[in-house]
Amino acid sequence: MSTDPHAYVHAHAHADSPSYALEVRGLRVSYGGVQALRDVSLVVPKGAVVALLGPNGAGKSTTLRTISGVIRAESGRIWVEGTRIDRRAAYRIARLGVVHVPEGRGIFPSLTVRENLQMAAPAAAAVDPIAEGVALFPVLGSRLRQLAGSLSGGEQQMLALARALMAQPTLLMVDEISMGLAPIVVGQLFDALRARAAAGVSLLVVEQYVEAALTLADYVYVMDKGAIVDVGEPADMRHGALATAYLGGPS
Ligand code: ATP
Repeated sequence: MSTDPHAYVHAHAHADSPSYALEVRGLRVSYGGVQALRDVSLVVPKGAVVALLGPNGAGKSTTLRTISGVIRAESGRIWVEGTRIDRRAAYRIARLGVVHVPEGRGIFPSLTVRENLQMAAPAAAAVDPIAEGVALFPVLGSRLRQLAGSLSGGEQQMLALARALMAQPTLLMVDEISMGLAPIVVGQLFDALRARAAAGVSLLVVEQYVEAALTLADYVYVMDKGAIVDVGEPADMRHGALATAYLGGPS
């Protein structure tokens, strides 16, 4: 462990500070008596890409689900751009621009690609969702009439990401979008994420491809057994022992 996570978080975080896209303090979550999150604190500075890494069962997905309001924490506080959200319903959190692409989901498989894109555009938005989606991932253009469930895994994730971006997130949380995909497809998805970050969207990314995540991220948190065990910039991580200690991923 090269860094004390709490010292790092405290040095970078100020409660109620609107300068953070996301601030999480002291989250505790249990599933039926089994504690999944012990004391999770993290910050995502505005416009930054933060990667959350760690082995299976570490609590990464639970952290994202708690932030998006799908799971209620036993204790802890969460702010989005200075607004406290940990007691709000999921739909109200989404209205603040928090968009969550859950692991292996994010599309309607029995609808066409066109319908999936159309449904993702906010009613008031002056955008053409089909043109936007195809501009982002051109391969979707030749798949518009196909059922989303019949797309390849990579195309499904492209559609899921296109749908998420259509909602014009201020904070985009993406859970293992690269799962099971070929490196070239992962590269295309990460390019889209990188472009959105450059445009000012804040990202919290759960990843299994450690090296790819380190390339994408400004800051990295490592979780294990429900707690943050390391935090720093990617260069610290590359030179530290944590990747080999905690991450048995395919990178
Ligand atoms: P993975 O990469 O395998 O998805 P993760 O780091 O995202 O792992 P979580 O899915 O958040 O980890 O799981 C954290 C802990 O909570 C694990 O011990 C897991 O078994 C448990 N857990 C997760 N979801 C549930 C659930 N719905 N009911 C009971 N226990 C759960």
